[in-house]
Amino acid sequence: MVNKERIRIINGLEVYCSNVKKGCQWKGELKNMSTHLNKEKREGECQYEKVKCQYEECQERMQRRYLKRHKDKECPQRPFECEHCGEEGTFLSITKDHYKECCWYPVTCPRGCASTTMPRFNLEYHIDNKCPLEPVDCVFSWAGCNDKPLRKDVDKHTADTKHMTLLAAACGQLKIESEQVKKENEKIKEENRKITEENKKMKKEVKAIKAKVKENFEDRVCYPDSYPSLPIKIKSGSKAVHFYTGASGRHMSARVIAAGTICRNIVILLLAFHEGKFDKYNPKRPNLSIKYHFQGKELKDPFKVLDDTEAANE
Ligand SMILES: [Zn+2]
Ligand SMILES: [Zn+2]
Ligand SMILES: [Zn+2]
Ligand SMILES: [Zn+2]
Ligand SMILES: [Zn+2]
Repeated sequence: MVNKERIRIINGLEVYCSNVKKGCQWKGELKNMSTHLNKEKREGECQYEKVKCQYEECQERMQRRYLKRHKDKECPQRPFECEHCGEEGTFLSITKDHYKECCWYPVTCPRGCASTTMPRFNLEYHIDNKCPLEPVDCVFSWAGCNDKPLRKDVDKHTADTKHMTLLAAACGQLKIESEQVKKENEKIKEENRKITEENKKMKKEVKAIKAKVKENFEDRVCYPDSYPSLPIKIKSGSKAVHFYTGASGRHMSARVIAAGTICRNIVILLLAFHEGKFDKYNPKRPNLSIKYHFQGKELKDPFKVLDDTEAANE
């Protein structure tokens, strides 16, 4: 017999499933066994073949017939939702870690009072405000009672006559303190009065300074006398004309002596400085420019300047 023929005969032999001992009743040709077993795949005919759980993190292997129950009810890696708050995770993460911190997880009072379970977030409020077994400050703690009766016993404790003694002592102390406060108040009042006076003084001073500043300012911008400021026109032969060289400038006078009175073709311009209102501000010596008009026309450069001339007195 050739090899091929042999293999054909062997494949055609009727055999039992390799999981027969676990309970599989399958019987068939050897060549169909691998299809029946479909090893390592979750789907497959043989319900007694062991396969791995579908969740990657879970390493458990089990017979196909248990797969669904494991996936739905037993696998620690199956998706799971916290029934108290709706947080999602795996069965393991929710029940092992999340339950320890879930705000809505039902807890009982650690003082062991008769209250039913409550969501975890409510516990602090319960202990601080409601729990009958929580020790609380005595209402006379301000008077020196350091007892901490349970909340349920507060009324009984408050009625204790020992508080009368404490109250008497506390009242005496209060009296002394209130007298001290009175004295302090008097002091503060006195200080306030002083401050008010100081303020008044300061206000007066500020007012005076303001007035002075205003006066100075007006001094600078106004002309206290009626002299005009430059430019001015002077006619030949007129009286001396007084003027200021500008805002806050020098007080000067000028006079033109007419041609002919001394010599023909000569016009003499006399300029003089006088004491002025703005001298205290040290005004600069001005640069004067002079134009000379003769019969309506301006004459160019007709001047010869002689120093130290003086304007004639009026
Ligand atoms: Zn089988
Ligand atoms: Zn699993
Ligand atoms: Zn939760
Ligand atoms: Zn409680
Ligand atoms: Zn007390």
